[in-house]
Amino acid sequence: MEIKKLSQHDLVAVMEIEADLFGTEAWLETSMKSEINGDFTHYFGVFQEGLVGYAGLSSVPNTFVSDIQTIAIAKSHQAQGLGRALAESLVAKARALGSEAVFLEVRADNEPAIALYEKLGFTQIDIRKKYYQPSGVDALVMRLEVHQPIVLGVESSCDETGIGIVKGNRLLANALHSSMDEHAKFGGVVPEVAARAHLEAMQPTIERALKEAQLSMTDIDAIAVANGPGLAGALMVGIGAAKALAIANDKPIYAVNHLVGHVGADVLESGSVTLPTIALLVSGGHTSLLLVRDLLDDVELLGETIDDAAGEAFDKVARVLGLPYPGGPEIDKLAETGDPKAIRFPRGLSLPKDMVKHRFDFSFSGLKTAVARHVEKAEDQQLPLSKPDVAASFREAAVDVLLTKAINACERYEVKRLLLGGGVVANARLRQQAKLRCEVAGIDLRIPRFSLCTDNGAMIASLGAQLVMAGREPSSLGFGAESTLEVTKVQSH
Ligand code: ADP
Ligand code: MG
Repeated sequence: MEIKKLSQHDLVAVMEIEADLFGTEAWLETSMKSEINGDFTHYFGVFQEGLVGYAGLSSVPNTFVSDIQTIAIAKSHQAQGLGRALAESLVAKARALGSEAVFLEVRADNEPAIALYEKLGFTQIDIRKKYYQPSGVDALVMRLEVHQPIVLGVESSCDETGIGIVKGNRLLANALHSSMDEHAKFGGVVPEVAARAHLEAMQPTIERALKEAQLSMTDIDAIAVANGPGLAGALMVGIGAAKALAIANDKPIYAVNHLVGHVGADVLESGSVTLPTIALLVSGGHTSLLLVRDLLDDVELLGETIDDAAGEAFDKVARVLGLPYPGGPEIDKLAETGDPKAIRFPRGLSLPKDMVKHRFDFSFSGLKTAVARHVEKAEDQQLPLSKPDVAASFREAAVDVLLTKAINACERYEVKRLLLGGGVVANARLRQQAKLRCEVAGIDLRIPRFSLCTDNGAMIASLGAQLVMAGREPSSLGFGAESTLEVTKVQSH
């Protein structure tokens, strides 16, 4: 016996069983076809040489419930436990989708089916009188409660102390403390200052998250922590705290990849990450282009910055223009009143010769230098300098190169989906141009809400929950901070 996902090729076999079992009440082939192909429906077949039964589940993302739509076994193969095997597959699928309850309707006169569902833990919650026509048989409505793992996530890779709590795919708390203000006078994140700030903020932020979720540590099923990439000293504080929580409360711990966490954040926004997707992650510390075919098992780095990160470039250019840290929002504001075409700044790694080795890599140091030269030249020669024009032209160059490469990646890999993440996603021009260009290219654009785009603990908890839901083993306590952790390593052991 083999149970696997149904495909369109199985449609003829499905319709034969359907007609044999239900006669005139059988579904139409067109309805069955759209059920098998639907985005929110999940159909499985049980095979013994050929197809001998099938079952379907429907679950709309973000509703946190699933409905069993049908379970059908060919007459020749009934009473062999195949119905039970299919029902168990549907429940497992519902669990993996993040459902907290599974519902179904069953004919009140179908005693074997009712007995099977009761064995699986379903209980009757309602009755629909004379639901089945023309027979006039009642329908019993049954429900199965599913416990989804409650995971507390710890993020400390840069200047945000983030503690998030999720239940399966559901966001329960997202507490954050940022040490950004403490770095302002240095014009960038100072690793030692960030580490020290994490130490001070950790305990109060954990307490805030638990309060927000109205939970105590005993309610938590597992701890997740980002162990890289990021600032080693900063990561160590989060890892130390997470290990202490895990040991003191006897909870399993999962060490997860910070960058993949950014992709996982979309689970909390839309109930699931639709895959495959290209992901563009742009922050003060990272500029990475990923191809995600599977969140837990197949993440590929297509390219990254070879010098400054995108956010870092905004911060450095802001300094050149005499604007305070963080520079991103300042430049964004100033650029609104400038002309983006006033100055043609270079687009890094965009020449034909770069396409061989660096097609999907980024470089912002040349752009930063070009802006600095432009400003120096104007000052030296006492020429008029329009700071809004410089800001707008710089912003245009940065946004252009980010989106051109991201959209090229979508086309090259035939993935019509782009997910954005990281603090630079706040940029107004980036958001506007991403929307426009993706629309033109027929690409589905996903931008999670801003509190899930910037570094946060909820995305770490979410990735941890995905690992728990997939039945992965926890990490051993031996893992450490890995400041250059590769994206292919979703979990460290
Ligand atoms: P990290 O913690 O890795 O430094 P964050 O995700 O916290 O990164 O994002 C902070 C970065 O985002 C800073 O470099 C900041 O300048 C940049 N940023 C914030 N808002 C904007 C904006 N509107 N435009 C461009 N960059 C921005
Ligand atoms: Mg930050």
